[in-house]
Amino acid sequence: MSKKLGIYVHIPFCASKCAYCDFYSLAECDRLMPRYHNALLQHVREAAPQLQARYTDSVYFGGGTPSYYGARRICDVFNALKRAGLIYKTAEVTMEANPDSIRYHDLLLLRSEGVNRLSLGAQSANDDILKLIGRRHSWRQVVSAVKRARDAGFDNVSLDLIYGLPSQQREDWADTLGKALELEPDHLSCYGLKLEEGTPIYAYKDSAILPTDDEQADMYLYTVETLDRYGYHQYEISNFAKKGKECRHNLKYWLLQDYMGFGPAAASSVGDMRYTYVSDLKAYISGVQNGKNILAEQERLDLLGRAAEYLMLGLRTVRGISEKEYHNLYRSDFLPLRELLEEFRHKGWAVNEGDRWHFTPSGFLLSNLLIGLLLEKQGEYKLSGNPWVDSMDLFTERAELPEGDEVFYH
Ligand code: SF4
Repeated sequence: MSKKLGIYVHIPFCASKCAYCDFYSLAECDRLMPRYHNALLQHVREAAPQLQARYTDSVYFGGGTPSYYGARRICDVFNALKRAGLIYKTAEVTMEANPDSIRYHDLLLLRSEGVNRLSLGAQSANDDILKLIGRRHSWRQVVSAVKRARDAGFDNVSLDLIYGLPSQQREDWADTLGKALELEPDHLSCYGLKLEEGTPIYAYKDSAILPTDDEQADMYLYTVETLDRYGYHQYEISNFAKKGKECRHNLKYWLLQDYMGFGPAAASSVGDMRYTYVSDLKAYISGVQNGKNILAEQERLDLLGRAAEYLMLGLRTVRGISEKEYHNLYRSDFLPLRELLEEFRHKGWAVNEGDRWHFTPSGFLLSNLLIGLLLEKQGEYKLSGNPWVDSMDLFTERAELPEGDEVFYH
């Protein structure tokens, strides 16, 4: 088990809600920012013993809109984390930003404090579509935000894009992708639009304004092929990077490495524990300040749960899953899964290299279904007991410090 830790900080504030968004974020709640800030800093201070049980090599400020919360506040939280934990100076430190709320002097401040990766919500190069989905910025603002980030010294910039948007055709998506490539980002996340119930865009369900499933699939395959041609290799269903620019923090989610969250709705995964804080800003603030319970869910995964997680998350990546790893970690026979994976291979949905299996782009398109079939198969076989896994430590034992602790922030 890796002794490295990722830290996620959730910033639940936005200037306004986008039509497709079902993340836990609130618009018109700016008055709560100062109280939230105090609660967050208190939470970080109180978590110092847990933070010091691991070496932190990634920090991620997500949301919501961290850039709207403000660079000064983000730096305050990062500095509190530096004091409370053991954060490598080489840690990947990401902040999500929207093009309309990131100024040059903010970027300079963030860089000077150690934030070294910017993830920019760009979504589309078509201004009409941006307006339709409730984004507050234009493509021109995306272009100028990328330039400002480069000028301020960010050499790791990622763009988020969405395909399958209302009124979008493949040509329009190709245009967005082309314009994004002109900006030479280091990393691209390309998500297919998902209609979440309760969001304004859900009203378009079954409407002809949305691309069909086949058209959306076509856009996805076009994305994989085009980005590969431009030197962005796919390392997860929706994520593409130039060599060495894969997002270390997000990889932790898929490779079952430890991460701890802060803020409402933030999830944590440490050893075999999984827990999530309440999706309620006021409850989170008062819970932290009055020493009350802020957990919404907590679970200790058993062996089957961990093996299922290994399949579900591992198969989102191009690294995939390994027969040997599966057997060693879960002391279970891979054969029934291999039989199913062989079937997928014949259909062009999976490939195997050595003892590893991963999906092809057409397999990724069906990944929910395929993973469901694998989990069903896995559930038919009893996983054998494995006492040493059950005694896995949870902040109980601290690893030896590596040579020279000057590598950490103080
Ligand atoms: S800016 Fe991001 S988090 Fe905020 S509403 Fe839009 S998509 Fe959701």
